[in-house]
Amino acid sequence: MSEPRRNGQELCPICHKPADPRYRPFCSKRCADVDLGRWFSGSYAIPAETDEVSDADADADGNDTPEKNLPWG
Ligand SMILES: [Zn+2]
Repeated sequence: MSEPRRNGQELCPICHKPADPRYRPFCSKRCADVDLGRWFSGSYAIPAETDEVSDADADADGNDTPEKNLPWG
């Protein structure tokens, strides 16, 4: 597999911010979760919360972005 590199920096497909190596190709766990949620929402019914979400929630620390403000509506 070969991946195109743009100055060694990938952009998050969700919000188009620079991707974080820990969450690539996403910029954060939140965006990774959002992408996963979008994916699942098309085919599956998923619970509103998971055990893993709590970690991202703590990291947000009040600097959270409401989902309604995300570019895909
Ligand atoms: Zn992002």
